Amino acid sequence: MAMAALALGVVGHGGPSPASEEPPAADFEQQLDPHYFVFAHTEFDGARESALEPERRAVRAAKGDTFMAMLVKADVPRTEAHEAIVALRKVYNPRNLMPGQAIEFSFMPDRSESGPARFLGLSFEPSAERTINVARTWDNGFKAHVIKKKLTLRLVRSAGSMDTSLYVDATRAAVPAPVVAELIRAYSFDVDFQRDIQRGDAFDVIYEQYQDKNGRSARTGNMVYAALNLSGVTLQVYRYRLAGGVVGYFNEKGESVRKALMRTPVDGARLSSRYGRRRHPILGYTRMHRGVDFAAPRGTPVMAAGSGVIARAGWNGSYGRYIKIRHNGTYATAYGHLNRYARNIKAGKRVRQGQIIGYVGSTGRSTGPHLHYEVHRKNRQINPMKLRLPTGKRLTGKRMARFMKYRAGIDQQRASLPADSKVASSR
Ligand SMILES: [Zn+2]
Repeated sequence: MAMAALALGVVGHGGPSPASEEPPAADFEQQLDPHYFVFAHTEFDGARESALEPERRAVRAAKGDTFMAMLVKADVPRTEAHEAIVALRKVYNPRNLMPGQAIEFSFMPDRSESGPARFLGLSFEPSAERTINVARTWDNGFKAHVIKKKLTLRLVRSAGSMDTSLYVDATRAAVPAPVVAELIRAYSFDVDFQRDIQRGDAFDVIYEQYQDKNGRSARTGNMVYAALNLSGVTLQVYRYRLAGGVVGYFNEKGESVRKALMRTPVDGARLSSRYGRRRHPILGYTRMHRGVDFAAPRGTPVMAAGSGVIARAGWNGSYGRYIKIRHNGTYATAYGHLNRYARNIKAGKRVRQGQIIGYVGSTGRSTGPHLHYEVHRKNRQINPMKLRLPTGKRLTGKRMARFMKYRAGIDQQRASLPADSKVASSR
C-alpha cells in the first residue's frame, strides 16, 4: 500500500513548518525565472537596460477570457501575443484557461520612457504543482518553460470537541472544506447529524496534505481516517481502496459503513445548529408526526437515503412537494416540504443512494424550511431514529487480512501524530 511511502509529520496550518531547514524559495525561483535570463541577455547586448527593472502586471482571467484577449488588452502587439501563445501551446492547452486564473505579464519599460513598454513574457500557475513561464528569447522569439514543484505528501491530524456541529467545529479547527464534506458523507449512514451530536462529543480526523518545500499546504488530499465520539461511543472510519480500485469507508472491524439507508439524507454540512439548542416545534419523532425533521436552509440538497425507484414525486397535501422512494420489498422512504425537485425526478425513475433528488423548502403545512423524512417498513411508518439496519458488508478472507494490515499501519501512524493543538484553543 502507498502508505509506507508517506512522509510523516504534522504542521501548523498555513505557516511554514518549523522543522523546515530548506533555503528560502527566492534563490531557487530566481535561478529558474526566465525573466531573469531575459534581463541578463539584454545586459549582454550592451544596452543600458540593466538599470531598468522589468515591470510586472498581475491580471486575472474573467469568464470567457482567452490569452489573446488578455494580452491585447494589456497592449501587447497582436503578432507578439500570437507568438507567445504558439510557444505556450507546446506545454499547455490555452483552452484550459479557467476563469479566476491569475497571470503575471512582464514588460520592460522603454528607456526613454516615451515609447511603449516591451513585452517580455508571462507566468502563471495552472496547478499547485506547475508554474508555466513564457519568456522572450535572445533572438526575439518566445519559449515556454514548465517548472514542476515537488510536493510532499504528509498526514495531518485535527481533533476537537463539537460544541456547535461537526461542520462548524471541524471548519473552525482548520480542517479543509473537502475533508469536512468527506467526513460528513462517510458518517451520514450512521449519524443523525441533527439529533445525535451532544455537547462534549468529539471528532478526530486524519487527512492527506501535499506541501511544497517550505511546508506550505499546496493541495488537500483525501481523508484517511476519522473517529467520532458520540455520547461515549466511538465510531471509527478508515478510507480504504479495494484491489479493484473501488474506494470505501470501513469501520475497525472491516465492515463497510455503507448501509441500506442513510440516517441523514440531507447535506449534513448545512445542518449547522445542533438539535435542542433552538427548539423547533415539530423536530423529532412523535407518534402523531411519524417522521423526523431536519431543519436546514432553503435549497439544501436532499439525497435519496437508499437506492430504489421513485414511487411518487408530486404535491401531497400538507406534505407539500413530496417524494417517495421504494427501496425494496420492505423499505420505502418519503421526503416532504421540498422547495423543488431535482432534474429528472419523477415516478418510475431509478435513483442511486446519495443522489440529489430535491431541495429543502417549506411547502405544504410547514412552519419553516426543513426536510420531513419518513421511513416506511412494510407500508407502515416507523421511527427513523430507532431504525436498526444490518451492518454494512464485511470484508472476508484475503481482503479482510489486507485491510487489517492496512488498518494496523494507520493506527500506528495515528499514535505518532499529535492532534493539532490549534483546536484546543479555538473559541
Ligand atoms: Zn415533519
